[in-house]
Amino acid sequence: MTAVVDRQVSDDSDAIVAEVRAWLAENWNDQLTVREWWRRLAESGWGYPTWPVEWYGRGLDADAAALVRAELKAAGALPPPHGIGQTMGAPVLLAFGTEDQKRRLLPKVATGEEAWCQFFSEPDAGSDLASLTTRAVRDGDEWVVNGQKIWNSGTLTSDRAVMPVRTNSDVPKHRGISFFIIEVDQPGIEVRPIKQLNGEAHFNEAFFNDARVSHDDLIGEVDNGWIVTLATLANERSAYAASADYGGGASPGEKNGMLDLTCAEARRRVRASAQSGEAFPLGDSRALIELAREYGKADDPHIRDRVATLHCRAEAARLTTLRAKAAAAAGQAPGPESSLGYISGVLLARQTRDLALDIVGAGGMLSGDDAPRDGAVTAMALTSLVHGIQGGSEQIQRNIVGERVLGLPKEPQVDRDIPFTDVRQSRRQ
Ligand SMILES: Cc1cc2nc3c(=O)[nH]c(=O)nc-3n(C[C@H](O)[C@H](O)[C@H](O)COP(=O)(O)OP(=O)(O)OC[C@H]3O[C@@H](n4cnc5c(N)ncnc54)[C@H](O)[C@@H]3O)c2cc1C
Repeated sequence: MTAVVDRQVSDDSDAIVAEVRAWLAENWNDQLTVREWWRRLAESGWGYPTWPVEWYGRGLDADAAALVRAELKAAGALPPPHGIGQTMGAPVLLAFGTEDQKRRLLPKVATGEEAWCQFFSEPDAGSDLASLTTRAVRDGDEWVVNGQKIWNSGTLTSDRAVMPVRTNSDVPKHRGISFFIIEVDQPGIEVRPIKQLNGEAHFNEAFFNDARVSHDDLIGEVDNGWIVTLATLANERSAYAASADYGGGASPGEKNGMLDLTCAEARRRVRASAQSGEAFPLGDSRALIELAREYGKADDPHIRDRVATLHCRAEAARLTTLRAKAAAAAGQAPGPESSLGYISGVLLARQTRDLALDIVGAGGMLSGDDAPRDGAVTAMALTSLVHGIQGGSEQIQRNIVGERVLGLPKEPQVDRDIPFTDVRQSRRQ
């Protein structure tokens, strides 16, 4: 599929709404396959309205994009594909990719035909990601990768991964990293699932043994991938804060097996899995009010007070997310709003967990069909531990807010100007 270019772009809200409605009336139908619907969304630019017109978007700002999403929702349309490829890969390609990379890699992200994952964390490099040691060495038109990544979500159903690796150890750690998009299915990458507390194996570890990645898939310049990595992390935090907008959507990628279902069937399956104890919604005051009514706690003044507090915080978080999107749409580099949005999301997740468990009482210790809401509350509580770790630990986000918003002194960084090999050696001694 080629990029879409020949399109009139309106910046008038009423005109945008009218145009989306007319387009939906002609194009949305829940009997379309997910593949066909996502292809139509990509070609029309309504799936990702903030992307450039020539690359599957409409070049709209965040407010206009919110109007488009609201129209899709009001029409009951399946949301556009929403995964690491769409939220992190595409923005990075749009910002740092060459025309050739955009042409080769963006189409299947825009149509949801590919799912991507994120090979970032390593056993010794999580919060301090710049200490990563998985290395790539140039071999003609390719790079050869050796090392280990860990905690990588969705790798088993992914086609490609965004991946920073060390390409130079003789310079300080931030200056010797290069950023690649690598194919996951290859003999040099072994993926092993990690079983979690909630019974799922959502993430994996990946072992690289002479894995290969083409030089054409280097994003940005050799040794200058830290800037691309930082942009990806900021996009990840914004995506994390905005993920509620995309609830109920199908999973992208051939391996997730949803592309050839009708949209109606895909939605039914997603709903069924949500109701089978996978998730109680986070930061949703209405869901908590319903739960309180169900368990006879709706008149308890402490519960009422906590639900009202949660509602106010959720609203503040929503507005912070809109600010972050508006800044991004105005062409500003991702700023501290994404950290604030992330921290708000973490706090809302914990408040939802504590409140829901207090509402259901001792039943919250059960799991499965006997538990409240068929286990949805317990599952949410067990899964809530991920918030504050996934997407970068909460303390690091607080450091960013402390330094960039409150103007507190920067964290001391003693290894900033020392060649990475010397840092590694002094750690080993
Ligand atoms: C559900 C889930 C999904 C994930 N998905 C992915 C994925 O798809 N891809 C991927 O690459 N990674 C993924 N991760 C990994 C995640 O990015 C890391 O776990 C995270 O960056 C923290 O790194 P760490 O686990 O090594 O902890 P560490 O960095 O070792 O931190 C341990 C503790 O020390 C604190 N700490 C460390 N440094 C500082 C500091 N400077 N100031 C204050 N406190 C500090 C931390 O806050 C934390 O409490 C995922 C994690 C989870 C939970």
